[in-house]
Amino acid sequence: MAFAITQTCCTDASCVAACPVNCIHPTPGEADFATAEILYIDPRVCIDCGACADACPVDAIFPLESLSGPLAAYGEVNAEYYADRPTAAQRPDPAPIFHAWDPPSFDRVIPPDFPALDVAVVGSGPAGMYAVQDLLLHTSSRVTLIDRLPVPGGLVNFGVAPDHPSTKRISETFDRYRSHHRLRMRLGVEVGRDVTAEQLAASYDAVIYAVGAPTSRDLGVPGEDLPGSVGAITAVGWYNGHPDVADAALGLGGDRVVVVGNGNVALDVARILTTDPDDLAGTAISPAALARLRTSSVREVVLLGRRGPDVAAYTRPEMLALTRRDDVEVVVDDHDGLAGAIIDAGADKGGLLATAKREVLDHATPPPPGRRIVLRFSSMLEEITGTDAVDGVRVTGADGTATIPAGLVVRAIGHRGRPVPGLPFDEASGTVPHEGGRVVGASNAYVVGWIKRGPSGGIGANRADARDTVGTLLDDVVSGRLAPRRRSRDRGRVRGALRRLLARP
Ligand code: SF4
Repeated sequence: MAFAITQTCCTDASCVAACPVNCIHPTPGEADFATAEILYIDPRVCIDCGACADACPVDAIFPLESLSGPLAAYGEVNAEYYADRPTAAQRPDPAPIFHAWDPPSFDRVIPPDFPALDVAVVGSGPAGMYAVQDLLLHTSSRVTLIDRLPVPGGLVNFGVAPDHPSTKRISETFDRYRSHHRLRMRLGVEVGRDVTAEQLAASYDAVIYAVGAPTSRDLGVPGEDLPGSVGAITAVGWYNGHPDVADAALGLGGDRVVVVGNGNVALDVARILTTDPDDLAGTAISPAALARLRTSSVREVVLLGRRGPDVAAYTRPEMLALTRRDDVEVVVDDHDGLAGAIIDAGADKGGLLATAKREVLDHATPPPPGRRIVLRFSSMLEEITGTDAVDGVRVTGADGTATIPAGLVVRAIGHRGRPVPGLPFDEASGTVPHEGGRVVGASNAYVVGWIKRGPSGGIGANRADARDTVGTLLDDVVSGRLAPRRRSRDRGRVRGALRRLLARP
């Protein structure tokens, strides 16, 4: 009996390195790794050893016979990936069987006399922590981990949905580095407010910025700024108890919420707003959000997609989990017949909507009793309507214009980076310009994660990204481009002042 990888796979590929028979793909060296929604185990090759399950940081791997409920389909999902692929033994070059992916080592650039660096890492989310991990494991560097929030964790704490506890478990992997004897944490310290990039650059041999993409992308439509129109970052921060988000940030007095977008974050928001609060009680949800959900009037969440179900933004595992729920109805609003035609042809993304209820909905009438999530495709948002506050949205599609009343509109069309004072910033991409992670024009500043590559890729994508940036940093030291500075009296004074600044209550 084989194992299977399930919904919460973070694609950090720890399992790939652990598998003795090379049956987990795509590997980081394969073309489709960068776009993979999850990794897959080849059931024809798996020898049932369980090594991958032990290595998985988010508890996403289980024996097939133990899969039940929403996870039951993952045996099939894993097997489907290999339907038209040769087994490891049938591949023309069998050599990689026992070494599918050797985790790249820094040995190539680290001579025995490599100096102990003083490195500041700004941002304690996954990208920052993978960089910390590489620095602590592969060098004798001392690391100062800085975060603007009073608690570490970044997106793991405040971005992952509270009902995905397995994904949040990745923080256990990082905890061991947060308590490492060569790491100091400075929490509640913001670059640009409490300390400048120039001060950090003068005080450390290198500074790695892992500040993410902390704002929601704008829609650019009238009404976007009305009360009751919020970005997904606010909604996600609200149910995760983000210190910047007020308990009352989401108004749940109406019976319908519109979420603009149909990616995984949109699905997360829709799921949390429609789940029975009793089922959320044992999760990591913020107590204040849970209390408000208990008095919520929301019965329907409409997910608006600009394009059809064949190119929806959600990943298959997340939609699969949603369609397997029996407490919430998933309805496709087939307002123009286009979505239905695509679904009937089996061409919707992942082929999962064939079992979903299909209707042409009259949004002028209140939602029926019970809770439901409506998928409305091929709908272009024209305006968020309302006078003093949001009262709905106006959309156009092939069948004309429609108005959908709603008391809350959540904009979930992606994240965007924010400039870091003192660093260059590319407005078009919302990222810091860099070369292999080295900030363009800076002497010792580096970037990693979404502020480097833009807001794409899940937690695991940051592992290879951090390796790239830390590799560049170490190459720079070896080549002499980055010279670790000797401790001078001047530098000592700057460091002392900075230490007092960062240590203040
Ligand atoms: Fe590979 Fe063993 Fe996991 Fe099967 S159970 S995928 S053989 S590590």
